[in-house]
This record gives sequence, structure tokens and C-alpha cells, in this order.
Amino acid sequence: MSGPRPVRAPRGTELTTLGWQQEAALRMLHNNLDPEVAEHPDKLVVYGGTGKAARDWRSFDAMTRTLRTLKQDETMLVQSGRPVGVMQTHEWAPRVLIANSNLVGDWANWEEFRRLEQLGLTMYGQMTAGSWIYIGTQGILQGTYETFAAVAQKKFGGTLAGTITLTAGLGGMGGAQPLAVTMNDGVAICVDCDPRAIERRIEHRYLDVKADSLEHALALATEARDARRPLSIGVLGNAAELVPQLLAMGAPIDIVTDQTSAHDPLAYLPLGTDFDDMASHAADKPADFTQRARESMARHVEAMVGFQDAGAEVFDYGNSIRGEAKLAGYERAFDFPGFVPAYIRPLFCEGKGPFRWAALSGDPKDIAATDKAILDLFPENESLRRWITMAGERVHFQGLPARICWLGYGERDRAGERFNDMVASGELQAPLAIGRDHLDCGSVASPYRETEAMLDGSDAIADWPLLNAMVNVASGASWVSLHHGGGVGMGRSIHAGQVTVADGTPLAGEKIRRVLTNDPGMGVIRHVDAGYDIAEDVAAERGVRVPMRED
Ligand code: NAD
Repeated sequence: MSGPRPVRAPRGTELTTLGWQQEAALRMLHNNLDPEVAEHPDKLVVYGGTGKAARDWRSFDAMTRTLRTLKQDETMLVQSGRPVGVMQTHEWAPRVLIANSNLVGDWANWEEFRRLEQLGLTMYGQMTAGSWIYIGTQGILQGTYETFAAVAQKKFGGTLAGTITLTAGLGGMGGAQPLAVTMNDGVAICVDCDPRAIERRIEHRYLDVKADSLEHALALATEARDARRPLSIGVLGNAAELVPQLLAMGAPIDIVTDQTSAHDPLAYLPLGTDFDDMASHAADKPADFTQRARESMARHVEAMVGFQDAGAEVFDYGNSIRGEAKLAGYERAFDFPGFVPAYIRPLFCEGKGPFRWAALSGDPKDIAATDKAILDLFPENESLRRWITMAGERVHFQGLPARICWLGYGERDRAGERFNDMVASGELQAPLAIGRDHLDCGSVASPYRETEAMLDGSDAIADWPLLNAMVNVASGASWVSLHHGGGVGMGRSIHAGQVTVADGTPLAGEKIRRVLTNDPGMGVIRHVDAGYDIAEDVAAERGVRVPMRED
């Protein structure tokens, strides 16, 4: 029987399979489980608590074995992390087709999913775990950077210099906030009740300093703001206490958000409980803990609304804190918007989203060369230049070296074709796997997040991710995936992904041109269909055909 063991992607130019598309799938599957990348590699869990790359170790071995012998006109089918068939297709077809965690509507809840998982019939694929294109914490850092850049663009003249952001939660994802704010030249005050969360972020250089008190934090923040100097400040305490206190003090806060783990009331520290007692209280009295956590969240959200009333820019960062506060009876909980409708949707209308690529050579020099190519291709994009430059200096690679940046319709294909030329000319040592998160402009239906508050009310229409997967298959992607659940849970989202390999051949160039045009094109047409003017303009300017606009 095969069992847990350390897994690492092969590096270099030597093929262990019959071609670079198969090789890329094999390396990226292995890379997702590299101990530098995965949260619990022994359990095949990549990220997000339960998001897996393969159903079990036997399935992992079978996929590896199959990829080694898979021919250029064959396709491996993966059903929730287990290879279930190999079919003869053709050279334009994907080498792997993946469907993860999908359940029929009436059955799509956690209880049924867990029952089926227990029986060994399914697995949770998250977004990029089961589709083999997770690149570690760089993804969340870039997404958070992009959100704050969009806030700056919308409200503060394109920069956060001279502003103070208040947030809470310095955990796995939330810990990216201080660096994302300072990368946008702003000042951040970040509250967390766990002293280790603050220390860890200082050690990793995501957080600059720790304040001794709220007053100290405010003094440091206003001084840095006045000097227009970026600075991030950690403060220890309960956000449900400190955020209302700052409001009462009349603190000059410009932006407020939150990334405590509010989506799970058993992970949000209620007022009146010491942090050291949190785990035992949650375990011993879950119902009481939940009730008190929700009441505390209501206090926290009430203060956020107070800051909004006072003129600050306030948004929910996808942690359901508004919903929990509402459950506690706070009526104005939804007075501030979620981050997607507030800032990200205009980017989605342009087909923008989290484009990423990994160097199959394993050599960081290949990523440095692609960074340079991106800067050459898009010299006018200031926010992109700032991100690529700082990422080159600050991002520590996990597993195969990789890069992420947000590019839109008409940009991704140019980048992809340039990368393919660089492989062909030998400027890069080996091919690249070019993919993206499932959280993208036209690839997801998720009414609590990506498709919250669509203009035409089409939040829960899930035809779009299905069309997205089909168009990527039809356009020549190397592997395509269709998942359910992602970051918001069973019954709440359907989403698709693609990865396309730049191996330097003319055929790869043709495939890249189609996939990296049509994939973001889905974002443009999805938002034209929903009635967004920006998407209409993008479609008209860049020649995206929308039949219902042609009469
Ligand atoms: P995590 O559990 O790793 O970290 C949460 C942090 O919040 C911990 O450090 C904890 O000490 C702190 N915390 C809990 N209660 C607190 C309180 N009352 N006061 C101050 N600090 C408190 O979680 P994470 O992975 O960082 O994710 C945070 C939240 O953000 C989750 O709800 C997640 O679903 C959400 N999220 C949303 C998006 C998105 O939509 N863009 C992306 C990532 C994460």
C-alpha cells in the first residue's frame, strides 16, 4: 500500500513523461504537495483547511503513473482527486480533465459531502488545490495588494500614501494585509488577539512594528501618515473592544476592514474571554461561545459602520462578519459592501484577474526573466510595476518558483506568447505552466463573494463557470478543472480553472493565444451580459464579440 511520504516536483529539462504538457501536470501535482507549499502534505491537504490535490495516496500514485505514460493524443480523467479513465482524444485536447467536489443541488451541503467523503467517494478540491496550480502565500499577498490598490484608485488618487487603514486578523490569510497596505505606500494598524500571530508576521517581515498600546499605535500611525511614510503596526487585543475604542477616541482612520476568522464563530474571540482560554471555551461550550462571539462581532461591525458614518471607506473582506453580526441582531450590518462589488468588479469587467505562472525548471532566474518581460510589456501600468518590483525583492518562493499578477483581456495573451517565445529562444531554461486562481473574472458563480450583488441579480447563475471550462477545453488548455465549494463552502459556489503550458513550440503558441484570449474574454462577456458599462466599453474597444449587442 502506498502511504504518506515527502513529495517534490522534478526540476530541470529532463522529461519524466512523454511531453511537456504531461510533465507540467505531473510537476504541478507534485509541487502542490511539496512540504514548502502544502499545509498538511501527509494528508494530501494543500490549503484552506481541507483542500486536497489527490483523494488518497493510491490515487496520487495512479495519477503519477498514468501521467508518465500518457500520450500526446490522450486525456486522463480525474473525478474528485482519483484518476478514473484515459481516453483517446487529440493533440489540441487537454491532457487532463478534472471535476472536484461536485454534488447535485439538493445534496450540495456539508453533511452529505462529509458522508460521501467518509465513504471514500469524493474529496474537497478548494480552488487551486485539486487543480494543481497553488503557489503558496504569494497568491493571497497579491490579491490583497490588488484590493488595496483598487481602494487607492477609487478613493485616494491611486496611492494609500497619507492614509491610515484599520484592520484585524493577522492569521494565514489576514497576515498579508499589513504588507499589502505598505506596498501601496499606506499606514496600517492591525489588531490581533494572538501574540504569536503578531510576532510571526514581524519575523516574516510582513509587519513592521508592534505597539505597546492603542495610544502608542495611533501616535506611530499619525506620525508616519504625516510623513507619507509606509508603516504597519500590530496591536494586541480584541478587535470587538479596540475598534469601538478607536471610534470613540475619534481616531483619524481612512479605511476599515477585517480579516479575523469571523466565518467560523468558534474561531472569533468573544469579549470577556481571555485568548489563552479561547480553545477550551470553544470546545466545552460551543453554543454559548458562538452566541457570545456573534454578539461581539455585532459590536465590532457596529463600530465599522460608525467609521463609515464618519466618512471612512469600509468594506467586508470576505469573512462573513456582516452575516454573523446580523445573526446577532445588528440591523445595519450590511450597510457597508463586500470587497468584490466595491473594488474588484470593475477589474473583472476588464477581464482582469489572478494570472500566474510557475517555472518548471525550478530556477528562480527564469521567474526573474519573466518579471522583466512583464515590465517591458506593460510599462504604463504603475501598480503592476510596483507589485512586480516589490515581489521580486520580498516574496520568498515556496516550491517551484512562481509569479502572480493581475492582467486583463488583451494582456494575458501577450504575456503568454512572450513567455512561449522566451522558452523557444532558450532565454528560459524550461517551459512554464501558465494558469490562474478559480477566483477570476468569468470563471466563478459565488453569491457570497465573487458574484455578490450583480447588477442584474444573476448572482447564483452557474452557467458561466461551466461555459468557461468548456471554452478552455475547446481552446487548447493543457488541463481544465470544474469544482464546487471553493473558499465559501458546499452549496455556495461553482468555479472553473485552466492551466496552459508554454513549451516553446508553435502549437503551444497557438493554444496560448486562444486560451489566454478566451478565458479572460469570459469575464468581459459575463459582465456585459449583467449590464456593466465598463465591460461594454472594453468589449467595444478590444473587439470582444457579444451577439446580443450586434442587432
Ligand atoms: P486565521 O484563522 O488563520 O486567522 C484569524 C486571526 O484572527 C487569528 O490570528 C486570530 O487570532 C484572530 N482573531 C480571532 N478573533 C479575534 C478578535 N476578536 N480580535 C482580534 N483578532 C481575532 O484565518 P485566515 O486564513 O487569516 O482568514 C481570515 C478570514 O478571512 C477568514 O474568515 C477567511 O474566510 C477570510 N478570507 C477571505 C478572503 C477573501 O474573500 N478574499 C481571502 C482569505 C481569507
